[in-house]
Amino acid sequence: MSQPATTGRLFRHATAQAPGKVNLSLRVGAPRADGYHPVASVYLAVSMIEEVTATPRSEGEITVALSESSSAFVDPDAFPVDSSNLAVKAAVRLREHLELDPAEHGVHLEITKQVPVAGGMGGGSADAAAALVACAALWDAGLSRQALAEISAPLGADVPFAVMGGAAVGLGVGDELTPLLARHPLHFVLVPATTGLATPQVYGLLDRLREEEALPVPESDPEVDRELVQALTTGNAEELALLIANDLQVPAATMVPELSGMLDIGLEEGALAGQVSGSGPTLMFLARNAEESFQLATRIEDRTGVAAVAVHGPVHGARVL
Ligand code: ATP
Repeated sequence: MSQPATTGRLFRHATAQAPGKVNLSLRVGAPRADGYHPVASVYLAVSMIEEVTATPRSEGEITVALSESSSAFVDPDAFPVDSSNLAVKAAVRLREHLELDPAEHGVHLEITKQVPVAGGMGGGSADAAAALVACAALWDAGLSRQALAEISAPLGADVPFAVMGGAAVGLGVGDELTPLLARHPLHFVLVPATTGLATPQVYGLLDRLREEEALPVPESDPEVDRELVQALTTGNAEELALLIANDLQVPAATMVPELSGMLDIGLEEGALAGQVSGSGPTLMFLARNAEESFQLATRIEDRTGVAAVAVHGPVHGARVL
């Protein structure tokens, strides 16, 4: 909290940050009767960070705006500024949970985004996590990180992960999260695309390609690769490079054919491995160490003219600054 309570509620504000994520592994099963896909996912929170400043509004409204300091990867036209914004939904949920009078407890959320919209990095979910933590500070909620993660769960599986941070396995529909003890930093280069991909469409194309037998049909629910988890927890980038996987890569690259060429370029320029992050189209390349990640980012930028960003993970979950 930037000001003590005695300064008066209207002068208070709270700023929080939350990380975007990559999936080191994303295995997807056949859709269940309810249409959801069972997944086995290994999430890693990375140093591409969203920031939310929550300022009280006396009229009770919950509003949102995109800060002008947001990254050039963020398409302002794709950013929702109404109640469909996940950050707004998170603030509404917390206000209800705390049983605060909605007529009095409004808030304005200003979001400084680094994570591209619909890029497969859970940026909207990170905004929701940061908004939740900022509003919890503003409203003196006194809730644990675990409690905030539980409150946010109905907003989608990526939100509790952005609250918790670090690394985790996600089973079920990605919502059964088990934190991993990953302490060694891993280094990546991210190449965000200028347009997003709608996650449901990427899953839909995966189903179609499997129906048409263009891709193998899984015989059972997906499982997490134990060797990959071990490579992650021991920070063994060379081993990890042999094990990263993403079942959504083929459909994402079918929808955005340029992804395959960019993947080849990253590998030619020295990445240990590369794949689509989540449902894409952001690409992630694994580097041996921090220095190599910076060099790789520069080489990709020089060769393609496309922005490439060196990041590391695991990083902290949502927190108040
Ligand atoms: P997913 O979690 O599905 O992998 P993603 O990382 O690909 O998502 P997001 O940037 O989280 O993509 O946004 C997906 C969609 O959610 C956007 O197209 C947008 O319509 C909506 N959305 C809601 N809130 C936000 C937000 N705060 N920032 C960006 N998009 C948001």
